[in-house]
Amino acid sequence: MSHLRAVPSAPTPPSRSGSATSVRVEAPGKVNLFLSCGARGADGYHPLTTVFQAVRLIETVTARRQAVGARGRVTLTIEGGPPGLPVDERNLAVRAALLLARTTGVREGVDLLLRKRVPVAGGMAGGSADAAAALVACNQLWGTGLNPAELTGLAARLGADVPFPLLGATAVGHGRGDDLSPLMTRGTYQWVFALAHEGLSTPVVFARFDELAAAAGRAPVTREVPGALTAALRTGDPGALAPALHNDLQAAAVDLRPAIAEVIALAERAGALRAIVSGSGPTVAALVPEAATAMRVCRALTASGLVSGTVRADAPVAGAREVG
Ligand code: ATP
Repeated sequence: MSHLRAVPSAPTPPSRSGSATSVRVEAPGKVNLFLSCGARGADGYHPLTTVFQAVRLIETVTARRQAVGARGRVTLTIEGGPPGLPVDERNLAVRAALLLARTTGVREGVDLLLRKRVPVAGGMAGGSADAAAALVACNQLWGTGLNPAELTGLAARLGADVPFPLLGATAVGHGRGDDLSPLMTRGTYQWVFALAHEGLSTPVVFARFDELAAAAGRAPVTREVPGALTAALRTGDPGALAPALHNDLQAAAVDLRPAIAEVIALAERAGALRAIVSGSGPTVAALVPEAATAMRVCRALTASGLVSGTVRADAPVAGAREVG
């Protein structure tokens, strides 16, 4: 039976003890149910209105205390994901641990183990989920005691998409997408994600968005979240949500990667209620009514050879939280 979901859970409250030898934290990837993008501002950022939904594609970060005498470094080991992901300061999980240490004056290091399940460079904020999980895990391990609002402040400094995986569930994002307000939703939604053979860079997609707007001679403006979308989320009916899904970045992603349009059409022909580009793409998110359709959509996409794989996930799920 469906039920109304209350405001999503806040990040795990940190203990001040810092006595554990290891802390494991899970954080979700996301899909954008709605994304409206304005013109690039003088600061280089595009003003956004977006609706995030946290999906059950879960990143896990385990933070381990280092042996006494270790040099206070932050190390990272990655399981899963494609080879070649950075394990130094270019990795958002490492940056998160370093920022927390610097802000709180911690001199201890940490060994991070990251288990990746969110597709990389897929528009599903996997790196941001890793940063959110690392913040919560290190805050607990080190006993630094930052409260959820303080963690959210650090998250926003790491990237516009980092605060949302701390919060989870479903939320509206304004500004760069990091000014969040939780949304009340009912029920569970079933998604099929069509994974691309190759990722798309978020800045490249935004640049193409600018070029397409300039070529059309219009200055894009951010729209507010349509009432039809918030009303649909309160019904829990995927059939009502489907027509309200929207992504202003879709045209740019399709322009860069025309096969995305074929993937969308194929998913919808196979029974998806609606398929859209997730965030800046190239992952396509197909909303399905139930499990049998999900399987049909997965089979059709896999047989087409247009995708590198498919993955099913339900949503919404909670934000970054300690497990085990
Ligand atoms: P978004 O949806 O927020 O635009 P994305 O999901 O498209 O992000 P990510 O997978 O988060 O993209 O990361 C894109 C790039 O960032 C990768 O190609 C990689 O080089 C770098 N990166 C930094 N930290 C991570 C991380 N923890 N996991 C994956 N990639 C990372």
